[in-house]
Amino acid sequence: MKAIPVTAVPSVEFDGALIRKLSQSGPRYTSYPTADRFSEGYGYRDYLMAVAGLRTRGAPRPLSLYLHIPFCESVCYYCACNKVITKNRDKAAVYLDYLKREIEMQGRLFAGMNQVEQLHLGGGTPTYLSDAQMGELMAHVRRWFDFAPDDSGEYSIEVDPRTVSVERVHSLRRQGFNRISLGVQDFDPEVQKAVNRVQPEAGTRAIIDAARAASFRSVSIDLIYGLPKQGVESMERTLAKVIETDPDRIAIYNYAHLPHIFKPQRRISEADMPTPDARLDMLALCIRRLAGAGYNYIGMDHFAKPDDDLAVAQRQGRLHRNFQGYSTHAEADLVACGVSAIGSVAATYSQNVKTLDAYYALIDKNELPVARGTRLSMDDALRRTIIQMLMCGFELSVEAIEQAYPVAFADYFAPELERLRTLEQDGLVSVTPGWLTVTPKGRLMVRNICMVFDRYLGAGADMPRYSKTI
Ligand code: SF4
Repeated sequence: MKAIPVTAVPSVEFDGALIRKLSQSGPRYTSYPTADRFSEGYGYRDYLMAVAGLRTRGAPRPLSLYLHIPFCESVCYYCACNKVITKNRDKAAVYLDYLKREIEMQGRLFAGMNQVEQLHLGGGTPTYLSDAQMGELMAHVRRWFDFAPDDSGEYSIEVDPRTVSVERVHSLRRQGFNRISLGVQDFDPEVQKAVNRVQPEAGTRAIIDAARAASFRSVSIDLIYGLPKQGVESMERTLAKVIETDPDRIAIYNYAHLPHIFKPQRRISEADMPTPDARLDMLALCIRRLAGAGYNYIGMDHFAKPDDDLAVAQRQGRLHRNFQGYSTHAEADLVACGVSAIGSVAATYSQNVKTLDAYYALIDKNELPVARGTRLSMDDALRRTIIQMLMCGFELSVEAIEQAYPVAFADYFAPELERLRTLEQDGLVSVTPGWLTVTPKGRLMVRNICMVFDRYLGAGADMPRYSKTI
Protein backbone atom coordinates (compact mmCIF):
# COMPACT_ATOMS: atom_id res chain seq x y z
CA MET A 1 0.00 0.00 0.00
CA LYS A 2 1.24 3.46 -0.92
CA ALA A 3 1.94 6.16 1.71
CA ILE A 4 -1.06 8.46 2.16
CA PRO A 5 -0.05 11.95 3.29
CA VAL A 6 -2.77 13.61 5.32
CA THR A 7 -2.95 17.18 4.16
CA ALA A 8 -5.66 18.75 6.32
CA VAL A 9 -3.68 18.13 9.50
CA PRO A 10 -0.11 17.31 8.56
CA SER A 11 0.66 15.68 11.90
CA VAL A 12 0.36 12.03 11.02
CA GLU A 13 1.07 10.06 7.91
CA PHE A 14 -0.11 6.54 7.14
CA ASP A 15 2.50 4.26 5.57
CA GLY A 16 1.06 0.77 5.17
CA ALA A 17 4.32 -0.87 4.06
CA LEU A 18 6.17 0.51 7.06
CA ILE A 19 3.44 -0.52 9.48
CA ARG A 20 3.48 -4.04 8.03
CA LYS A 21 7.22 -4.17 8.49
CA LEU A 22 7.39 -2.80 12.02
CA SER A 23 4.14 -3.70 13.79
CA GLN A 24 4.93 -5.80 16.85
CA SER A 25 3.41 -6.52 20.24
CA GLY A 26 4.08 -3.84 22.81
CA PRO A 27 2.71 -1.94 25.81
CA ARG A 28 0.31 0.98 25.49
CA TYR A 29 2.30 2.98 28.04
CA THR A 30 -0.54 4.25 30.17
CA SER A 31 2.15 3.91 32.85
CA TYR A 32 5.88 3.26 33.05
CA PRO A 33 6.84 0.82 34.40
CA THR A 34 3.83 -0.95 32.85
CA ALA A 35 1.31 -2.59 35.20
CA ASP A 36 2.59 -6.10 34.49
CA ARG A 37 5.83 -5.03 36.24
CA PHE A 38 4.14 -4.10 39.50
CA SER A 39 5.27 -6.18 42.46
CA GLU A 40 3.24 -7.86 45.18
CA GLY A 41 6.02 -6.82 47.55
CA TYR A 42 4.47 -3.33 47.39
CA GLY A 43 1.41 -2.97 49.59
CA TYR A 44 -0.85 -0.82 51.74
CA ARG A 45 1.95 0.44 53.98
CA ASP A 46 4.08 1.52 51.04
CA TYR A 47 1.09 3.48 49.75
CA LEU A 48 0.69 5.17 53.16
CA MET A 49 4.35 6.18 53.04
CA ALA A 50 3.96 7.59 49.53
CA VAL A 51 1.01 9.73 50.65
CA ALA A 52 2.90 10.84 53.79
CA GLY A 53 5.73 11.92 51.48
CA LEU A 54 3.34 14.30 49.70
CA ARG A 55 3.04 16.30 52.91
CA THR A 56 6.75 17.19 52.76
CA ARG A 57 6.52 18.33 49.14
CA GLY A 58 5.42 21.90 49.78
CA ALA A 59 2.14 23.32 48.49
CA PRO A 60 -0.33 20.50 47.81
CA ARG A 61 -1.13 19.83 44.18
CA PRO A 62 -4.66 19.14 42.99
CA LEU A 63 -5.69 15.53 42.70
CA SER A 64 -7.20 13.39 40.02
CA LEU A 65 -9.72 10.80 41.23
CA TYR A 66 -10.64 7.56 39.53
CA LEU A 67 -13.61 5.46 40.64
CA HIS A 68 -14.10 2.00 39.18
CA ILE A 69 -17.54 0.41 38.81
CA PRO A 70 -16.89 -3.15 37.62
CA PHE A 71 -20.40 -4.36 36.72
CA CYS A 72 -21.92 -4.97 33.28
CA GLU A 73 -25.23 -6.59 32.38
CA SER A 74 -23.91 -8.61 29.47
CA VAL A 75 -20.51 -9.31 28.00
CA CYS A 76 -19.16 -7.74 24.82
CA TYR A 77 -17.07 -10.46 23.20
CA TYR A 78 -14.13 -8.18 22.45
CA CYS A 79 -13.82 -7.10 26.09
CA ALA A 80 -10.45 -7.15 27.82
CA CYS A 81 -11.52 -5.20 30.92
CA ASN A 82 -11.69 -6.34 34.52
CA LYS A 83 -15.47 -6.59 34.98
CA VAL A 84 -18.22 -8.58 36.67
CA ILE A 85 -21.13 -9.66 34.46
CA THR A 86 -24.35 -9.83 36.50
CA LYS A 87 -28.00 -8.90 36.34
CA ASN A 88 -28.22 -9.03 40.13
CA ARG A 89 -28.44 -5.35 41.14
CA ASP A 90 -28.00 -6.21 44.82
CA LYS A 91 -24.33 -6.82 44.05
CA ALA A 92 -23.94 -3.18 43.03
CA ALA A 93 -25.52 -2.00 46.29
CA VAL A 94 -23.02 -4.04 48.34
CA TYR A 95 -20.14 -2.81 46.20
CA LEU A 96 -21.23 0.79 46.55
CA ASP A 97 -21.12 0.49 50.36
CA TYR A 98 -17.54 -0.76 50.25
CA LEU A 99 -16.49 1.77 47.62
CA LYS A 100 -17.81 4.56 49.84
CA ARG A 101 -15.77 3.18 52.73
CA GLU A 102 -12.63 3.19 50.59
CA ILE A 103 -13.36 6.76 49.46
CA GLU A 104 -13.70 7.78 53.11
CA MET A 105 -10.37 6.11 54.00
CA GLN A 106 -8.65 7.89 51.12
CA GLY A 107 -10.38 11.16 52.03
CA ARG A 108 -9.06 10.95 55.61
CA LEU A 109 -5.60 10.12 54.34
CA PHE A 110 -5.58 13.15 52.04
CA ALA A 111 -7.10 15.55 54.58
CA GLY A 112 -5.77 19.05 53.97
CA MET A 113 -4.52 18.17 50.47
CA ASN A 114 -7.77 16.89 49.01
CA GLN A 115 -8.47 19.41 46.23
CA VAL A 116 -9.73 17.56 43.17
CA GLU A 117 -9.69 19.01 39.68
CA GLN A 118 -10.28 15.85 37.73
CA LEU A 119 -12.64 12.92 38.29
CA HIS A 120 -13.20 9.93 36.06
CA LEU A 121 -15.72 7.13 36.48
CA GLY A 122 -14.84 4.03 34.51
CA GLY A 123 -15.61 0.36 34.39
CA GLY A 124 -17.21 -1.99 33.62
CA THR A 125 -20.23 0.20 33.20
CA PRO A 126 -20.46 3.13 35.65
CA THR A 127 -24.11 3.65 34.71
CA TYR A 128 -24.86 0.14 35.94
CA LEU A 129 -25.45 2.11 39.16
CA SER A 130 -28.97 3.49 39.33
CA ASP A 131 -29.58 7.21 39.17
CA ALA A 132 -30.13 7.29 42.95
CA GLN A 133 -26.96 5.27 43.62
CA MET A 134 -24.93 7.60 41.41
CA GLY A 135 -26.31 10.64 43.24
CA GLU A 136 -25.37 9.01 46.55
CA LEU A 137 -21.85 8.21 45.31
CA MET A 138 -21.23 11.74 44.01
CA ALA A 139 -22.50 13.31 47.23
CA HIS A 140 -20.23 11.00 49.21
CA VAL A 141 -17.13 11.75 47.17
CA ARG A 142 -17.79 15.47 47.54
CA ARG A 143 -18.03 15.02 51.29
CA TRP A 144 -14.46 13.70 51.42
CA PHE A 145 -12.82 15.67 48.65
CA ASP A 146 -12.92 19.32 47.73
CA PHE A 147 -13.89 19.72 44.07
CA ALA A 148 -12.81 22.61 41.83
CA PRO A 149 -15.78 24.49 40.32
CA ASP A 150 -17.52 23.07 37.27
CA ASP A 151 -15.90 25.53 34.86
CA SER A 152 -12.34 24.59 35.81
CA GLY A 153 -12.61 20.94 36.89
CA GLU A 154 -12.86 18.05 34.47
CA TYR A 155 -15.41 15.48 35.62
CA SER A 156 -15.98 12.65 33.22
CA ILE A 157 -17.93 9.44 32.98
CA GLU A 158 -17.92 6.51 30.57
CA VAL A 159 -21.45 5.80 29.43
CA ASP A 160 -22.79 2.74 27.67
CA PRO A 161 -25.70 4.29 25.70
CA ARG A 162 -27.66 1.06 26.11
CA THR A 163 -27.90 1.67 29.85
CA VAL A 164 -29.19 5.25 30.03
CA SER A 165 -32.23 7.29 29.07
CA VAL A 166 -32.25 10.89 27.86
CA GLU A 167 -33.43 11.96 31.32
CA ARG A 168 -30.58 10.02 32.95
CA VAL A 169 -28.05 11.96 30.84
CA HIS A 170 -29.47 15.23 32.17
CA SER A 171 -29.30 13.79 35.66
CA LEU A 172 -25.61 12.91 35.24
CA ARG A 173 -24.92 16.52 34.30
CA ARG A 174 -26.77 17.72 37.42
CA GLN A 175 -24.76 15.26 39.49
CA GLY A 176 -21.61 17.11 38.46
CA PHE A 177 -20.25 15.40 35.36
CA ASN A 178 -19.21 17.78 32.58
CA ARG A 179 -17.54 15.36 30.14
CA ILE A 180 -19.10 12.26 28.75
CA SER A 181 -17.53 9.43 26.85
CA LEU A 182 -19.89 7.20 24.89
CA GLY A 183 -19.06 3.67 23.82
CA VAL A 184 -20.25 3.22 20.23
CA GLN A 185 -17.60 0.83 18.77
CA ASP A 186 -19.42 0.46 15.42
CA PHE A 187 -22.85 1.50 14.13
CA ASP A 188 -23.10 -1.54 11.84
CA PRO A 189 -25.77 -4.00 13.10
CA GLU A 190 -23.86 -7.06 11.80
CA VAL A 191 -20.72 -6.04 13.66
CA GLN A 192 -22.77 -5.34 16.77
CA LYS A 193 -24.29 -8.83 16.61
CA ALA A 194 -20.88 -10.45 16.10
CA VAL A 195 -19.56 -8.87 19.30
CA ASN A 196 -22.78 -9.28 21.34
CA ARG A 197 -23.32 -5.58 21.74
CA VAL A 198 -26.53 -4.71 19.95
CA GLN A 199 -26.98 -0.98 20.25
CA PRO A 200 -29.54 0.55 17.91
CA GLU A 201 -28.28 3.65 16.16
CA ALA A 202 -31.32 5.80 16.98
CA GLY A 203 -30.82 5.21 20.71
CA THR A 204 -27.14 6.15 20.56
CA ARG A 205 -27.92 9.30 18.60
CA ALA A 206 -30.58 10.27 21.14
CA ILE A 207 -28.01 9.97 23.94
CA ILE A 208 -25.44 12.05 22.04
CA ASP A 209 -28.12 14.73 21.42
CA ALA A 210 -29.10 14.61 25.09
CA ALA A 211 -25.47 15.13 26.16
CA ARG A 212 -25.33 18.27 24.00
CA ALA A 213 -28.69 19.51 25.26
CA ALA A 214 -27.55 18.95 28.85
CA SER A 215 -24.47 21.16 28.19
CA PHE A 216 -21.76 18.60 28.68
CA ARG A 217 -18.55 20.50 27.92
CA SER A 218 -17.17 17.66 25.87
CA VAL A 219 -18.66 14.65 24.16
CA SER A 220 -16.31 11.86 23.26
CA ILE A 221 -17.05 8.77 21.16
CA ASP A 222 -15.19 5.48 21.34
CA LEU A 223 -14.89 3.30 18.25
CA ILE A 224 -12.98 0.09 17.60
CA TYR A 225 -11.45 -1.09 14.35
CA GLY A 226 -10.48 -4.69 13.65
CA LEU A 227 -13.71 -6.21 14.98
CA PRO A 228 -15.39 -9.25 13.39
CA LYS A 229 -17.54 -8.50 10.33
CA GLN A 230 -15.95 -5.08 9.92
CA GLY A 231 -14.69 -3.94 6.55
CA VAL A 232 -13.70 -0.69 4.90
CA GLU A 233 -17.21 -0.07 3.60
CA SER A 234 -18.94 -0.60 6.92
CA MET A 235 -16.28 1.52 8.61
CA GLU A 236 -16.84 4.27 6.05
CA ARG A 237 -20.55 4.30 6.94
CA THR A 238 -19.85 4.33 10.67
CA LEU A 239 -17.31 7.15 10.37
CA ALA A 240 -19.72 9.25 8.30
CA LYS A 241 -22.37 8.87 11.00
CA VAL A 242 -19.92 9.61 13.81
CA ILE A 243 -18.61 12.74 12.09
CA GLU A 244 -22.20 13.87 11.54
CA THR A 245 -22.78 13.75 15.32
CA ASP A 246 -19.85 16.16 15.70
CA PRO A 247 -18.11 14.83 18.85
CA ASP A 248 -15.29 16.84 20.42
CA ARG A 249 -13.08 13.80 20.75
CA ILE A 250 -12.97 10.46 18.98
CA ALA A 251 -10.99 7.46 20.14
CA ILE A 252 -10.49 4.64 17.64
CA TYR A 253 -9.04 1.65 19.40
CA ASN A 254 -7.27 -1.14 17.64
CA TYR A 255 -9.01 -4.36 18.67
CA ALA A 256 -6.42 -6.67 20.19
CA HIS A 257 -7.58 -10.24 19.55
CA LEU A 258 -5.89 -12.21 22.34
CA PRO A 259 -8.33 -15.08 23.02
CA HIS A 260 -5.63 -17.06 24.86
CA ILE A 261 -5.72 -14.32 27.53
CA PHE A 262 -9.27 -12.90 27.40
CA LYS A 263 -11.98 -15.59 27.60
CA PRO A 264 -14.91 -13.61 26.08
CA GLN A 265 -12.88 -13.22 22.88
CA ARG A 266 -13.05 -17.00 22.35
CA ARG A 267 -16.68 -16.48 21.34
CA ILE A 268 -15.63 -14.47 18.32
CA SER A 269 -15.52 -16.55 15.17
CA GLU A 270 -12.05 -16.43 13.60
CA ALA A 271 -13.72 -16.64 10.19
CA ASP A 272 -15.37 -13.25 10.82
CA MET A 273 -12.12 -11.47 11.62
CA PRO A 274 -10.89 -8.90 9.08
CA THR A 275 -7.57 -9.70 7.42
CA PRO A 276 -4.46 -7.74 8.45
CA ASP A 277 -4.69 -5.85 5.14
CA ALA A 278 -8.34 -4.93 5.77
CA ARG A 279 -7.41 -3.69 9.25
CA LEU A 280 -4.74 -1.44 7.79
CA ASP A 281 -7.14 -0.15 5.16
CA MET A 282 -9.62 0.70 7.93
CA LEU A 283 -6.95 2.51 9.90
CA ALA A 284 -5.90 4.48 6.82
CA LEU A 285 -9.53 5.37 6.21
CA CYS A 286 -10.05 6.53 9.80
CA ILE A 287 -7.02 8.80 9.67
CA ARG A 288 -7.98 10.24 6.29
CA ARG A 289 -11.64 10.82 7.16
CA LEU A 290 -11.01 12.34 10.59
CA ALA A 291 -8.24 14.61 9.35
CA GLY A 292 -10.54 15.63 6.50
CA ALA A 293 -13.25 16.46 9.04
CA GLY A 294 -10.82 18.75 10.88
CA TYR A 295 -9.78 16.56 13.79
CA ASN A 296 -6.23 16.75 15.15
CA TYR A 297 -4.32 13.54 15.74
CA ILE A 298 -3.46 13.56 19.44
CA GLY A 299 -1.60 10.27 19.61
CA MET A 300 -2.13 6.51 19.80
CA ASP A 301 -5.86 6.14 19.16
CA HIS A 302 -7.08 9.66 19.95
CA PHE A 303 -8.37 12.49 17.79
CA ALA A 304 -9.77 15.82 18.95
CA LYS A 305 -11.13 19.03 17.50
CA PRO A 306 -8.44 21.75 17.37
CA ASP A 307 -10.21 23.79 20.07
CA ASP A 308 -10.71 20.82 22.41
CA ASP A 309 -8.68 20.93 25.64
CA LEU A 310 -6.63 17.89 24.60
CA ALA A 311 -5.52 19.50 21.34
CA VAL A 312 -4.82 22.81 23.10
CA ALA A 313 -2.83 21.04 25.84
CA GLN A 314 -0.81 19.18 23.23
CA ARG A 315 0.09 22.40 21.43
CA GLN A 316 1.11 23.94 24.76
CA GLY A 317 3.18 20.92 25.83
CA ARG A 318 0.86 20.12 28.78
CA LEU A 319 -0.52 16.83 27.58
CA HIS A 320 -0.14 13.84 29.88
CA ARG A 321 -0.82 10.14 29.50
CA ASN A 322 -2.37 8.06 32.25
CA PHE A 323 -4.59 5.04 32.76
CA GLN A 324 -7.56 6.79 31.15
CA GLY A 325 -5.59 7.61 28.01
CA TYR A 326 -4.60 11.24 27.44
CA SER A 327 -5.20 13.94 30.03
CA THR A 328 -4.65 17.65 30.47
CA HIS A 329 -3.80 17.51 34.19
CA ALA A 330 -0.11 16.63 34.12
CA GLU A 331 0.67 17.57 37.69
CA ALA A 332 -2.09 15.69 39.45
CA ASP A 333 -1.52 12.69 41.69
CA LEU A 334 -4.07 10.01 40.83
CA VAL A 335 -6.10 8.51 43.68
CA ALA A 336 -7.93 5.40 42.49
CA CYS A 337 -10.77 3.68 44.31
CA GLY A 338 -12.54 0.44 43.49
CA VAL A 339 -11.64 -3.11 42.66
CA SER A 340 -8.55 -3.41 40.39
CA ALA A 341 -8.17 0.40 40.16
CA ILE A 342 -4.65 1.76 39.61
CA GLY A 343 -3.45 4.95 41.29
CA SER A 344 -0.29 6.98 40.91
CA VAL A 345 0.89 9.04 43.88
CA ALA A 346 4.26 10.83 43.82
CA ALA A 347 6.78 8.38 42.34
CA THR A 348 4.71 5.26 42.95
CA TYR A 349 1.97 3.20 41.32
CA SER A 350 -0.43 1.04 43.28
CA GLN A 351 -3.15 -1.32 42.14
CA ASN A 352 -6.09 -2.58 44.18
CA VAL A 353 -6.99 -6.26 44.50
CA LYS A 354 -8.84 -7.66 41.50
CA THR A 355 -11.66 -9.72 43.05
CA LEU A 356 -14.69 -8.44 44.93
CA ASP A 357 -14.15 -10.91 47.81
CA ALA A 358 -10.56 -9.77 48.40
CA TYR A 359 -11.66 -6.13 48.10
CA TYR A 360 -14.41 -6.50 50.69
CA ALA A 361 -12.18 -8.53 53.05
CA LEU A 362 -9.44 -5.88 53.17
CA ILE A 363 -11.84 -2.99 53.65
CA ASP A 364 -13.49 -4.96 56.48
CA LYS A 365 -10.04 -5.01 58.08
CA ASN A 366 -9.90 -1.22 57.68
CA GLU A 367 -7.08 -1.50 55.20
CA LEU A 368 -6.85 0.15 51.82
CA PRO A 369 -7.11 -2.78 49.38
CA VAL A 370 -3.71 -2.32 47.69
CA ALA A 371 -2.51 -5.59 46.12
CA ARG A 372 0.66 -4.56 44.35
CA GLY A 373 2.56 -1.64 42.96
CA THR A 374 5.95 -0.14 42.51
CA ARG A 375 8.14 2.67 43.76
CA LEU A 376 9.94 4.24 40.83
CA SER A 377 13.74 4.30 40.88
CA MET A 378 15.52 7.31 39.41
CA ASP A 379 16.01 5.30 36.23
CA ASP A 380 12.26 4.46 36.08
CA ALA A 381 11.31 8.12 36.60
CA LEU A 382 13.74 9.24 33.90
CA ARG A 383 12.45 6.69 31.39
CA ARG A 384 8.86 7.53 32.33
CA THR A 385 9.54 11.19 31.53
CA ILE A 386 11.05 10.24 28.17
CA ILE A 387 8.14 7.95 27.26
CA GLN A 388 5.60 10.62 28.31
CA MET A 389 7.33 13.24 26.16
CA LEU A 390 7.37 10.95 23.14
CA MET A 391 3.80 9.71 23.57
CA CYS A 392 2.31 13.15 24.20
CA GLY A 393 4.45 15.62 22.23
CA PHE A 394 6.28 13.40 19.71
CA GLU A 395 9.60 14.99 20.57
CA LEU A 396 12.22 14.97 23.27
CA SER A 397 14.58 17.74 24.26
CA VAL A 398 17.90 16.29 25.44
CA GLU A 399 18.61 19.51 27.32
CA ALA A 400 15.29 19.29 29.20
CA ILE A 401 16.14 15.75 30.29
CA GLU A 402 19.67 16.67 31.35
CA GLN A 403 18.33 19.63 33.37
CA ALA A 404 15.81 17.44 35.18
CA TYR A 405 18.01 14.36 35.78
CA PRO A 406 21.71 13.89 36.66
CA VAL A 407 22.64 12.12 33.42
CA ALA A 408 24.61 12.86 30.27
CA PHE A 409 21.98 11.70 27.78
CA ALA A 410 24.34 10.45 25.04
CA ASP A 411 26.33 8.31 27.51
CA TYR A 412 23.45 7.05 29.61
CA PHE A 413 21.38 6.05 26.62
CA ALA A 414 24.19 4.99 24.26
CA PRO A 415 22.66 1.51 23.64
CA GLU A 416 19.19 3.03 23.09
CA LEU A 417 20.57 5.61 20.64
CA GLU A 418 22.27 2.77 18.79
CA ARG A 419 18.95 0.89 18.54
CA LEU A 420 17.14 4.05 17.45
CA ARG A 421 19.39 4.20 14.39
CA THR A 422 17.43 1.41 12.72
CA LEU A 423 14.15 3.22 13.37
CA GLU A 424 15.75 6.40 12.05
CA GLN A 425 16.73 4.58 8.84
CA ASP A 426 13.11 3.43 8.55
CA GLY A 427 12.04 7.07 8.81
CA LEU A 428 10.19 6.87 12.13
CA VAL A 429 12.34 9.26 14.09
CA SER A 430 15.04 11.83 13.55
CA VAL A 431 17.89 11.98 16.05
CA THR A 432 20.17 14.99 16.52
CA PRO A 433 22.44 15.74 19.50
CA GLY A 434 19.73 18.03 20.95
CA TRP A 435 16.43 16.45 19.92
CA LEU A 436 14.58 13.23 19.20
CA THR A 437 11.70 13.99 16.89
CA VAL A 438 9.05 11.50 15.84
CA THR A 439 8.29 11.97 12.15
CA PRO A 440 4.70 12.20 10.85
CA LYS A 441 4.87 8.58 9.70
CA GLY A 442 6.50 7.50 12.97
CA ARG A 443 3.62 8.87 15.03
CA LEU A 444 1.32 5.91 14.49
CA MET A 445 4.16 3.71 15.71
CA VAL A 446 5.36 5.85 18.58
CA ARG A 447 5.10 2.79 20.84
CA ASN A 448 7.94 1.17 18.86
CA ILE A 449 10.12 4.16 19.68
CA CYS A 450 9.10 4.18 23.37
CA MET A 451 9.87 0.47 23.60
CA VAL A 452 13.53 1.26 22.91
CA PHE A 453 13.60 3.13 26.24
CA ASP A 454 11.71 0.44 28.19
CA ARG A 455 14.31 -1.22 30.39
CA TYR A 456 11.99 -4.11 31.20
CA LEU A 457 11.57 -5.40 27.66
CA GLY A 458 14.00 -7.93 26.26
CA ALA A 459 15.66 -6.41 23.20
CA GLY A 460 13.74 -7.39 20.10
CA ALA A 461 11.51 -9.91 21.91
CA ASP A 462 7.91 -10.30 20.74
CA MET A 463 5.49 -10.23 23.65
CA PRO A 464 2.24 -12.15 23.22
CA ARG A 465 0.59 -10.58 26.31
CA TYR A 466 0.62 -7.15 24.65
CA SER A 467 -1.45 -5.90 21.75
CA LYS A 468 0.11 -5.10 18.38
CA THR A 469 1.50 -1.57 18.14
CA ILE A 470 -0.78 -1.12 15.12
S1 SF4 B 1 -16.67 -3.73 26.80
FE1 SF4 B 1 -17.39 -2.44 28.49
S2 SF4 B 1 -19.61 -2.82 28.55
FE2 SF4 B 1 -18.72 -4.49 27.34
S3 SF4 B 1 -18.33 -6.13 28.81
FE3 SF4 B 1 -16.45 -4.96 28.65
S4 SF4 B 1 -16.55 -3.46 30.29
FE4 SF4 B 1 -18.62 -4.26 29.99
